[in-house]
Amino acid sequence: MSTPPPLREVIAEYGLRADKSFGQHFLLDLNLTGKIASLCGDVSGITIIEVGPGPGGLTRPLLALAPERLIAVEMDARFIPALEATADYYPTPFEMIEGDALKVDEAALTGGGPAVIASNLPYNVGTPLLIKWLKAEPVFWHRLVLMFQKEVAERVVAPAGSKAYGRLAILTAAVASARIVLNAPARAFTPPPKVDSAVVVIEPLPAAQRFTDLAALEVVTESAFGQRRKTLRKSLGIAAGKAGTSAETLLEAAGIDPGARAETIPPEGFFRLAKAWRDTKS
Ligand code: SAM
Repeated sequence: MSTPPPLREVIAEYGLRADKSFGQHFLLDLNLTGKIASLCGDVSGITIIEVGPGPGGLTRPLLALAPERLIAVEMDARFIPALEATADYYPTPFEMIEGDALKVDEAALTGGGPAVIASNLPYNVGTPLLIKWLKAEPVFWHRLVLMFQKEVAERVVAPAGSKAYGRLAILTAAVASARIVLNAPARAFTPPPKVDSAVVVIEPLPAAQRFTDLAALEVVTESAFGQRRKTLRKSLGIAAGKAGTSAETLLEAAGIDPGARAETIPPEGFFRLAKAWRDTKS
């Protein structure tokens, strides 16, 4: 099998300058993208969805993993001819979707079959995309391999009591386990962004261990961490008001000390709180 031309040549040939409005910072080091792709694990029989392939630095090693097929979702149409030409070098079936990943129905794309999502995420949509995938019901993915800016990666995996702990860690812990597996300094990207990045691997929990009412969990965590220095008795007031009750009543139902601060309560405490909120509201 012949290999596609070097990425820099492809970028020059197709005139693919990075466009800041799409959050474009490219990975051109195929050693690094090869490592990221390998985090997908065994993908035989599995569809990989790549969000934001850009010029294809990660797409190449993903195609080389020989998944069942690779579906690439890219908002910037300029990349499509280059990506299609690259994919021709690999036997893996390749599908290109031009559009906004926030609006794509991934389960429909994969026909309900197992999927892995791999992405060097555009910074501006990384968090909303993760929340969309965490909320997906039924869970269509069996692994997410996602490059975030480091500070966001730390918020995804943060344990209770740490500075980065909050809404994102709790929503993630409700349905999945997550770990940071790789760090990438800003200089690994072209052009370099202002901050370092990290790859997070996220896997769904067994169905019986998931807390799936993420909508209720969002309400209570937003309220609790909106004023994270205050005690829960105070900070939960907004969420309690929405359910027509008091913070104290909710906290009592969840078995949580009203004098505690949000950051000291482990995810399970917030699951109980979300359940109490939902039961009171309905
Ligand atoms: N994967 C490439 C790499 O590693 O070199 C590019 C990564 S770059 C950080 C993010 C990519 O996501 C860009 O190609 C950008 O056009 C694309 N993108 C930005 N917003 C998007 C969205 N909402 N849906 C799909 N793609 C998007």
